[in-house]
Amino acid sequence: MGSALLALIANGVVSAVNIANVRGNQGKIRSMARIQTTRSKFIPMLTIRETCRLCDSRDSRVVLELPPTPIGDRYTETPEPDVERFPLTLIRCTACGLLQLREVIDPETLYGHYRYRTGESLGLSAYFDRYVAEIAPVMVTNRMRPHVVDIGSNDGTLLRAFQRRGYIATGVDPIGGPDTLQGAWSLTASKLMRGANGQADIITANNVLANADDVHGFMEGVRNLLAPDGIFVCETGSGPDLISSRLYDCIYHEHLSYFGLNQLRVLFGRHGLKIIKAVHTESKGGCLRIIASHGGDGEGVLSDLALEQRDASRLEEAGFRRHLENTKLEVKRWLVQHPERVWHFGYGASVGVTTLRYALGLGGKINPFLDDNQSRRGLFVPGAPVQVFMSDELYERPAHASVVILLAWRYADVILAKHQAFLEAGGVILQPLPTLTVHTAESYARRILATGNPRTA
Ligand SMILES: [Zn+2]
Repeated sequence: MGSALLALIANGVVSAVNIANVRGNQGKIRSMARIQTTRSKFIPMLTIRETCRLCDSRDSRVVLELPPTPIGDRYTETPEPDVERFPLTLIRCTACGLLQLREVIDPETLYGHYRYRTGESLGLSAYFDRYVAEIAPVMVTNRMRPHVVDIGSNDGTLLRAFQRRGYIATGVDPIGGPDTLQGAWSLTASKLMRGANGQADIITANNVLANADDVHGFMEGVRNLLAPDGIFVCETGSGPDLISSRLYDCIYHEHLSYFGLNQLRVLFGRHGLKIIKAVHTESKGGCLRIIASHGGDGEGVLSDLALEQRDASRLEEAGFRRHLENTKLEVKRWLVQHPERVWHFGYGASVGVTTLRYALGLGGKINPFLDDNQSRRGLFVPGAPVQVFMSDELYERPAHASVVILLAWRYADVILAKHQAFLEAGGVILQPLPTLTVHTAESYARRILATGNPRTA
């Protein structure tokens, strides 16, 4: 039993705990903890899905089994070295091809310490401004002030981008906020919104469909709220990109489904929505942006891209597993071969960085962590008594005795440009992904020469 559970019991929140061992499809014993609260109500902390959340098939194969990992965004004010760790298994349904997580943590546990705020993500504010400009021409409504509902509106960054252009914009999100219904998206939330403001001309859902365990309930809510001539704009991390671009850091407990176009077509079709546009975007390492409307079986515009994606990602699964294992060994070997680098800094303090720390076997080997997001300053990383400092902390240690392990690898260009002084003083930046790269002052100078631009070197 984990210490988090024990703490709950000690604090009188929980009066009894049952641990039930259940035997799953693969013959392994899986542990399922159920907490009995003082109101005698059972709240499962972790459940193991036995069926595909899209097509209900029971046939699946394991794509990647990561080590037990704490909830990735649980950066806390006090250290929690013994916090609960949960299995993290990426599987693929052999019937419909949906990549998904086998484990589902109950939302109260999962989002209890939720810290992510859209506006804090590097570049996302500007991204949403472009996003609004891009979807405006697709609308068919002729209302003067179209009504937009953003599902998972978080801190309202997208709502404000719409409002600046004269739209009426409201949101739904568990964290609440201005113009926002506080709660998770569901058919019930959809009915409440419809009762209050009528149907929506545009519904947006960015990186939130993937977090829903009940994807059909999610889509029924969309169908109910969407006006007859409305459009649904859905952006979600792409499963094929996850595999081909080695986006291991996109695997975390909040992120339950990793869709390809084929699975989105099936899902939307089952709820009477037709895909009218499908675009691949570079957001978060590779996303699909789908625009859909009522009145279809989901066929709509779908290209060879869907088929290409399916075939490529199936072939790549073995390479995906091997690459992570090799990267883990290479990082370990480099650290062993450079004992003079006694300071091991980690760069990045996000949910995905937690996945990488455990996946690369670096759980206790990095101290401290660096980040450029002020809201992470001084927090402790999930599962270790290790603090996050702002990145200028790097200059408090001798560069010749330091190595930075760049876990926020998708921001490598910006971070390298920012810390040239560290490299020039003899520091090394070790970037594990997409392939292990050792950045030094010399290698960085060569990159600048080759491209002429430090930001895109
Ligand atoms: Zn399936």
